[in-house]
Amino acid sequence: MNNKFSCVKTITFKGWNILLTEVETSITGGLPIFSIVGLPNKTINESKERIRAVLSHLGIGLPVGRIIINLSPAHITKEGTHYDLPIIIGLLVALNIINIPHIDEYIFFGEINLKGLIIKTLGILPVGIFCFKNNYKILTSEQAQKELSLIADFNRYFLFKDIMNIIVFFKNYKEHSNYKKLPDKEIKPLYIFPKKEESINIYLPKIYKRFMEIAALGNYNFLLVGPPGTGKTTLVKIFHKLLPLLKHEQSLEVTSLYSIAGLLEEETLMDYPPLRIPHHSSSIYALLGGGIKPKPGEVSLANQGVLFLDELSNFSSNILDGLRECIEEKIVRISRVTYNISYPANFQLVSAMNPCKCGFLGSKKKLCVCSSKTKEIYKNKISGPFLDRIPLYLYMEDIFYGESENQKEWIQTTREKIVKLRSKEITEQVITENLLPIEKETQCFINKYCEKYNISLRKYKYLLRIANTIKNLDGNDIITKSQIGEAILFLNMYAK
Ligand SMILES: [Zn+2]
Repeated sequence: MNNKFSCVKTITFKGWNILLTEVETSITGGLPIFSIVGLPNKTINESKERIRAVLSHLGIGLPVGRIIINLSPAHITKEGTHYDLPIIIGLLVALNIINIPHIDEYIFFGEINLKGLIIKTLGILPVGIFCFKNNYKILTSEQAQKELSLIADFNRYFLFKDIMNIIVFFKNYKEHSNYKKLPDKEIKPLYIFPKKEESINIYLPKIYKRFMEIAALGNYNFLLVGPPGTGKTTLVKIFHKLLPLLKHEQSLEVTSLYSIAGLLEEETLMDYPPLRIPHHSSSIYALLGGGIKPKPGEVSLANQGVLFLDELSNFSSNILDGLRECIEEKIVRISRVTYNISYPANFQLVSAMNPCKCGFLGSKKKLCVCSSKTKEIYKNKISGPFLDRIPLYLYMEDIFYGESENQKEWIQTTREKIVKLRSKEITEQVITENLLPIEKETQCFINKYCEKYNISLRKYKYLLRIANTIKNLDGNDIITKSQIGEAILFLNMYAK
């Protein structure tokens, strides 16, 4: 038997990163063996059986001899069913059954069932983006069309229903013939804002509105503290509506993460910041990602949006420590025995908790019955370094005590205002506190305050940043004394 060889390209997911992978096929004489090497996991090893069955249905018998498939680079663990397609194509090419001109330019990606149909697998959107950016053509399932068409101007996709289609197509293939050049599509948003705005009838005290405006403009992590039933979750949902739409790059990133996680229900671009509300009983894998099969957790699903932790004190300290790292680095790193991966985790942390175990500490309406020891234990449940990452704080008492009014107009105008002021705010947040526009007299006032209450350097920096956000919100050029006063009011009292 003549020795046969082929090499085709596919990709390997390493968390959020995509690695170009070569599938090499070698057919030589010798004792019959069909083996896949290069750290394949169980699903990839099973693909041998699928491929054998599909080929025999097509009337193609595998030659008797040594068939070795090598997934290169061989030192990285491979996971997923999308290797079926590159492996079968590699075999067909090695056996001279099909000839794909310039095969180097293609990325093959897809699962195959026993009938030979090509099935769409998770993460097609990020693979499409990878091909778009690196000038590759993608050959995959026709089911991937909708998701791939989200990438504007990308038309180098070759989509097929089954293996037979691929064989027939390349038999008649003329160079530069366009198989499925889709028209450049308009990008459709998943949530249509603000057209679909529902009306929200609720009483919102002025101070709550002001707090939300500051938190939204400055993109601050914040903590809501208050007795049970004061509408903390409602306030967070309203706050989420104040956030501006995502930019195109951000929205591709968010949609790609949902595509990898298999959570992209409608195959449209998610252009609104996600809001994730994990329960406090969620596992660390669900929150941070990972598990037996690597996949993004809540911190990554909240990327470019809001992660809301209700009943903060009930989350385990392991989870909160992991979250602290995400807040600092804006990515989550997951290390397991078999893999080392990372995903983006750039979210705004919103949290809520009761002020004490009984829930009524500081309430004007009901008396707190906790002993001083219980209060202390409750407060110490959340680690200091975690609370230090939360600049803003609001005590909530009476959200529902007032005449309700429709907040639709306020939400719309605030969002527009935030869109307008965001870029100025972001530029100024980089400026050091020594360069902020502040009058001497106001600076003296701050210094006195910090001295009197023994304010740490971290809190002092928060104070100036918050005051600067308020200055931007008010449209002033200089930070005033009253703006400092307002910043003190919202400064997280639990942070050190
Ligand atoms: Zn209490």
